[in-house]
Amino acid sequence: MKLPIDTLRDLHTPFYCYDLSLLRHTLKVINDEIEGYPFVVHYALKANANPVILGEIVKAGFGTDLVSGNEVLAALDAGFIASKMAYAGVGKTDWEIEAGIDNDIYCFNVESVPEMEVINEIAARKGRTAGIAIRVNPNIDAHTHRYITTGTTDNKFGIDIPVLDEVVEKAVNLPNIHLRGLHFHIGSQITTLEPYKMLCEKINELVEHFEKMGVKFEMIDVGGGLGVDYENPEENPIAPFHDFFDVFKQGLKLHEGQKVHFELGRSIVGQCGSLISKVVFVKENSVKKFVILDAGMTDLIRPALYSAHHKIVNLTSQESDMETYDVVGPICESSDVFSTDERLPLTHRGDLIAILTAGAYGESMASRYNMRDLPQSKFIKG
Ligand SMILES: *Cc1c(COP(=O)(O)O)cnc(C)c1O
Repeated sequence: MKLPIDTLRDLHTPFYCYDLSLLRHTLKVINDEIEGYPFVVHYALKANANPVILGEIVKAGFGTDLVSGNEVLAALDAGFIASKMAYAGVGKTDWEIEAGIDNDIYCFNVESVPEMEVINEIAARKGRTAGIAIRVNPNIDAHTHRYITTGTTDNKFGIDIPVLDEVVEKAVNLPNIHLRGLHFHIGSQITTLEPYKMLCEKINELVEHFEKMGVKFEMIDVGGGLGVDYENPEENPIAPFHDFFDVFKQGLKLHEGQKVHFELGRSIVGQCGSLISKVVFVKENSVKKFVILDAGMTDLIRPALYSAHHKIVNLTSQESDMETYDVVGPICESSDVFSTDERLPLTHRGDLIAILTAGAYGESMASRYNMRDLPQSKFIKG
């Protein structure tokens, strides 16, 4: 992303800067890849629910993947259509289920039998039928950070394969449930395609198995999780969508009329956002030099939460000499560190710093800890 430094310099920091032309290009690449295939892409709203970002994604015709009642309402507000909404989450409360049913969303991705029973009960009370997909835990290790691995048996998501027959049979027999298909989501920031190939094999087995039992699914939801390049964002601003979709084009044995749903978050919005902040102080002790920013973990929590590393750029330094710094925020927590031993040009108080690839799980995870203001957002159209 090319940042217009002279314009940014005068703005109050920290703020998220979004490149809408990169977002539009990303959306177009995805739409080109799925054209002619029975594929539906849902945007995972939790990655970034900024209304301007949502407006662009609505225009591209995407569906949504939602994880709370408020996300269902925000998606409706933004103009997304209910018939392309999937609602996942292990702990949907009654009002959230009601919001989904009242607005006639496409499906609830159901994560347990008690949840399925409650959805059936609430739908019955309203004289409605609720579309559901059963979230299957395929026990596939996505080889990503343990906090963002979701498809192995030791975590809270989905229903295990050994009990799936029973659960599918139950779904088929509940009067106010319409079973649309199976749902999978194996993790996030997945950077090899191998786990997706394994997922396809697992799906083929399951679809065939249930076909023999007389159960046909109108769709299979393969989830999201495609990773982005945090180390070389300028070289790779677009995630490897071609290879990703190709895995499913080649690997899934679909039946007549069966659709494949995808739920992509990070790979859609990750690269279009940077967090812009100013250097408050440069501080030195006996072993280290610290660059202290006015942005912290309250603006971008990924480094503190997942030990993530984002590329950091000094936008304004005119220095040619390089120095090694720990780049930190102002929050009263030792984990409020963006990067240790980061090589930057000699950096001074007042320099403008960009933390790249911050479009996903950045602004949406911001908090007001330390009574700080939430970060603002600015948009460039390139
Ligand atoms: C978070 C989430 C996604 C999106 O994951 P990304 O890694 O951002 O693509 C998709 N589906 C479900 C169920 C999720 O919870």
